[in-house]
Order: sequence, then structure tokens, then C-alpha cells
Amino acid sequence: MKEIDWKNLSFGYIKTDYNVRCYYRDGKWGALELCSEETINLHMAAVCLHYGQEAFEGLKAFRGKDGKIRIFRPEENAARLQSTCRGILMPELSTEKFVEAVKMVVKANERFIPPYGTGASLYIRPLLIGTSAQVGVHPSEDYLFVIFVTPVGPYFKGGFATNPYVITRDYDRSAPLGTGIYKVGGNYAASLKANKLAHDAGYSCEFYLDAKEKKYIDECGAANFFGIKNNTYVTPKSTSILPSVTNKSLMQLAEDMGLKVERRQIPEEELETFEEAGACGTAAVISPIERIDDPEKNKSYVFSKDGKPGPISTKLFKKLQGIQLGDEPDIHNWVTIID
Ligand SMILES: *Cc1c(COP(=O)(O)O)cnc(C)c1O
Repeated sequence: MKEIDWKNLSFGYIKTDYNVRCYYRDGKWGALELCSEETINLHMAAVCLHYGQEAFEGLKAFRGKDGKIRIFRPEENAARLQSTCRGILMPELSTEKFVEAVKMVVKANERFIPPYGTGASLYIRPLLIGTSAQVGVHPSEDYLFVIFVTPVGPYFKGGFATNPYVITRDYDRSAPLGTGIYKVGGNYAASLKANKLAHDAGYSCEFYLDAKEKKYIDECGAANFFGIKNNTYVTPKSTSILPSVTNKSLMQLAEDMGLKVERRQIPEEELETFEEAGACGTAAVISPIERIDDPEKNKSYVFSKDGKPGPISTKLFKKLQGIQLGDEPDIHNWVTIID
């Protein structure tokens, strides 16, 4: 194998040795299969290709200082995938089977887990698709579950830093009673245009308000939002955002640190009152927000004047990353160790 330059890895795809597959046929799931083929043989009339019956997940494995491999909260991803399955009528995979598949694919690709200290990690991507050939709009009979992994570089190449975001009023990623709470590809298709416009305008990401009233904070692209003020961690309650495992973990850590935690509607104007703000998700843990612009209202909500992340965001980031790497005690039993 060509030596991988761990510190300069991007977020692209690097081929690994194996993926794990599981087929749902005749009303039941089969056995987990280790596979070395990167492609999927799919019927052109497969339901996932036409009607978007597709779900995915994202989590990471890390190499600790002690050499052990740690996977962060795979049971949470299993539960979220089950929720997505109920949402778009796919058969649920048990938590046991999901976690077993995650362990299997990580173990089989052990040589691709970046060494401790590089900031890089092994990204784990489970996906579930409806594979039956049909033209009528109804749920597929057969399904394929696949998990592949790929090493990814550190999110912050130049160190933990803030980024600018922009409110998009012309696009919604999900409707109030739509599929925003499920991790399905369709939500991403709906966000590509707003995301491109934000990038072209020099922003890190687009920022969504609630689709119905355009009054409350929803999400930052593919990450949840949180704001900090008066020793309180505030994050939106909405029927159209994806329940982030990172956000759930940060809420717990904030509470552990003695912060108050509030999950409630956040009106846009309240942005003015936050001392710190961040976007959170598996990719970055926390991406601290420098400012959020609302061009149509000619407003700019600034959270960092010197471009540096705030003290509480930094503390939360270090704590969560420390648990993932095994540098901090795992008091909530979040980590699955493979040795
Ligand atoms: C995956 C995802 C997140 C982040 O969830 P994590 O479990 O923390 O990685 C946030 N928003 C959207 C829309 C997502 O798809």
C-alpha cells in the first residue's frame, strides 16, 4: 500500500479493503457479508434511484494514544437509522446488527485508521437503499444495507477557527412536516443549490430558518446550531431539523460543565444576544460561527470579533474530542472499543 499522508487527507473518498453488506429479501434480513467490491450492481428501475427511498448515517472511529480503536456512539446512529426507516417505510435493522456491522467494517479496514495525533479519523458511512425494480410509487420489497469506511483528514487544517454563515431565505431544505428529521439523501438534493450560492459568496455554509414562517432558526446546512449566553447552551427545537448525535452529546457535556441547557424555538432576532455560536456535527464536532449574515434584512450577527472561537465552545470541543480519542474519561459510556 502506498503510504497515506494522514495529515493532509481531505474529505474525499479513499479506497479501503472491505465494505460490509446485508440484503433484505423475502421479508427478512440476511447475514452480514464482508465484500471487497466497491461498486453495487443495481437494477435501473430500483426504487432508490427514482423515488429516493434511501437513508444514510455518518459516524467515526478513532485511534487512541493507547492504540485502541474507539467508535463514537454507534447505538445512536442505529436508533436514528431506525427512525429514518419508519419515516420512509424501510425495514429496520436491529441495533445489534448495525453495531456488529460497524465493528466488522472497522476491524477489516484497521490499517486505514489514522494514527493518534494526526487529527485524522476513519469516517464510517452506512447506507440503506430500496432495490426492487418497479415504476409504481410504493415502498421497495428488497433492500441493501452497505457500510463503507474512508479515512478523512482533520476538519480544521489551520486549527480550531470560526467561519461565516449566511441565512438563505429563497430556499428550504425541508418542510415542517417533511423529511428534515430523517437522514435521507433527498434533503441534501434540496440543499445543493443554496449551499453552492453560499459557497460562491464566500460563506462556509448556508443557514436555514423554519420553512413556514421564516422566523425561527433551523439548521446550518448539514449541522445543528447552538448558541451560548448567560451560561446557557441554547439549541433549536423544530420539526424539520435532523437530530444530531453531536448536539445531543454537547448538551450533556454542557450540563456536566454546569451550563443550563435549553431546547426551544429561537427567533432570528435572538441571534443578537448570543455570546458564542456554533454548528455541530460528526465532521467537525463544532465549527464555531464567526458571524451570520442576513443579506435581505441587511443584518449581520457577529459572535467573534477577533475570529477566534469562544471559551465555552472551545471547552466543549476539547471535551468531546478528548472522549472520542480516549484522552478524557468516558463517563457516559459513549465509546465502543475494538481491540
Ligand atoms: C448528519 C446531519 C447532522 C449532524 O448529525 P451528527 O449525528 O451530529 O453527525 C446535522 N444536520 C443534518 C441535516 C445532517 O444530515
